[in-house]
Amino acid sequence: MVRLNRENRSKFLRVKCPDCENEQLIFSKASTVVDCIVCGHVLAEPSGGRVQVKAEVLSEVE
Ligand SMILES: [Zn+2]
Repeated sequence: MVRLNRENRSKFLRVKCPDCENEQLIFSKASTVVDCIVCGHVLAEPSGGRVQVKAEVLSEVE
């Protein structure tokens, strides 16, 4: 699905690892896979300029 609202501003997402509950900030436009720094679980993967988050998003930080 393509959303119509454009997001040109980058921001950070605070996510919680589903495996170890570590909280970590990830960049919303990361170009590489982001792993949990504690257990190595993949938290986000790059997808068309944005990241596809594979963890629970707690909040967004601009
Ligand atoms: Zn983890």
